[in-house]
Amino acid sequence: MLQLEEARERILAAIQPLAAETVLLSAAARRFLASDVVAPIDLPPFDNSAVDGYAVRAEDTKSASQDSPMSLRPALRIPAGADLRGSLQPGTCARIFTGSPLPTGADAVVMQEDVTAERDEILFREPGKPWENVRLQGEDVKSGSVVLRMGEPLAPGAVALLGALGLQAVAVCRRPVVEVLGTGDELQETGAPLGPGRIYESNRAALASLLERDGAIAKIFPLVSDNLDETRTALRHALETSDAVITTGGVSVGELDFVKEAFTNLGGDLDFWRVAIKPGKPFVFGKWEGKFLFGLPGNPVSAFVTALMLVRPAILRWQGAVETRLPSHPAVAAEAFTNRGGRRHFMRVRVDNAGRAHLTGAQASHLLVSLAHANGLVDVPPNTVIEQGAPVEVMRFDF
Ligand code: AMP
Ligand code: MG
Repeated sequence: MLQLEEARERILAAIQPLAAETVLLSAAARRFLASDVVAPIDLPPFDNSAVDGYAVRAEDTKSASQDSPMSLRPALRIPAGADLRGSLQPGTCARIFTGSPLPTGADAVVMQEDVTAERDEILFREPGKPWENVRLQGEDVKSGSVVLRMGEPLAPGAVALLGALGLQAVAVCRRPVVEVLGTGDELQETGAPLGPGRIYESNRAALASLLERDGAIAKIFPLVSDNLDETRTALRHALETSDAVITTGGVSVGELDFVKEAFTNLGGDLDFWRVAIKPGKPFVFGKWEGKFLFGLPGNPVSAFVTALMLVRPAILRWQGAVETRLPSHPAVAAEAFTNRGGRRHFMRVRVDNAGRAHLTGAQASHLLVSLAHANGLVDVPPNTVIEQGAPVEVMRFDF
């Protein structure tokens, strides 16, 4: 049985970032850069004012004080967006606004709250300090410098930076198309009363929403019954129309578990099955003609946890992401976390804003209420009790 880290490495080693495509900036958030971004201009592009006030030559106001204000004639008026910069003559000042270009000659802006404006003269009661309230050209970004690196996620803040640099579009890696399949004779579509012995199918929507959040284009495949031929036909069709197929159920050791057999019948190459984690031990990864199979367990919590741990990294790597682990942070166990089993147990917790991690309920892999209330997982080692008050690391999935 593989350790989780080894399973993840095998998956990531098999996956290459998909081809680059160009997207408008308005659609770029949450995508990953396919190449480094080099700044085409300085930011700010020109020296400009940080406040509404008066641009001065600091030298001209250096002897200003409360008792003996200095008077300067407002010789220029420079609204934001002005294209005529003009130059500030000694002994004068310029009415200026936030974002207005600084006239040549000026080296300070005094806030309007700090002056007395008369009709033809502006009274300064304290000296303007050199470069105060001036935003300098290039202080944020120098033209020609690398501002964002290949594989970095385009958070909204990065989109702001790219927009300010005048980029209309960026190159990002294509999003993977995944087909999400559910297998099992007991599964029923929602929308009709439950038949005897049936349950409503819930994994496909859960996994599709989980993986879409990380950039996958998820397609819901019709339910597949526990039958070898049907499973094989479904797998072939799904593999042909996607980059990867995510199945749930049918990967255990029961005689009605057909996913592995159907996949190898198609000529698929099984890389591994079974990973030493709880929930989620049965897990299949395989390749078929450049496509991939992720065979997840049927139990909803097992499917969810293996999708987070083993499918999500692949979804991110296809998009060119460098970082594929879940975000995590330290917290304190609000109660004891007990793992009496021989496999690492990823327990569902809800961590509050004070950094206290609470179990969300019983931890069996079919229990959905404790999944619905969780915002993170804590990796509890085999045969271990984490005492109340002990430090834990919480992997978050509520981003
Ligand atoms: P299996 O891995 O096929 O043996 O399924 C394990 C458990 O998960 C069984 O109780 C199934 O009924 C349940 N299960 C399998 N697939 C789904 C699904 N798509 N939605 C909800 N429960 C499922
Ligand atoms: Mg089944």
